[in-house]
Amino acid sequence: MRRREKKAVKKIVLGRIHRLFQLAELEFPKHPDRSRRYVEIARRLGMKNKVRIPRKWKRRFCKRCGAFWVPGKNLLVRTKPRPQPHVEYICLECGARRRVPYLREKLKTKH
Ligand SMILES: [Zn+2]
Repeated sequence: MRRREKKAVKKIVLGRIHRLFQLAELEFPKHPDRSRRYVEIARRLGMKNKVRIPRKWKRRFCKRCGAFWVPGKNLLVRTKPRPQPHVEYICLECGARRRVPYLREKLKTKH
């Protein structure tokens, strides 16, 4: 495949990933299981085509159980000062905990 074609494929895949996550968000209130399925498809699509999940959606699903995260529903977000300031994401579906250093998180959301 030529480079230009690769770029075009990546663009299409990214668009699909976006769309799938949007659907996941839309369906969540009524069909959380469907959301999980959309996340699964989006992740597989990304892996197959070597396209990373966009930053916007990266913190919206559980890497362990694949659930789509909605803060206050199935996700607990809290900041902790120790040992280093970090944000903790706790999946209420499977109990997985994810720590993200606070400073990095702050910098990232600025852009
Ligand atoms: Zn989980």
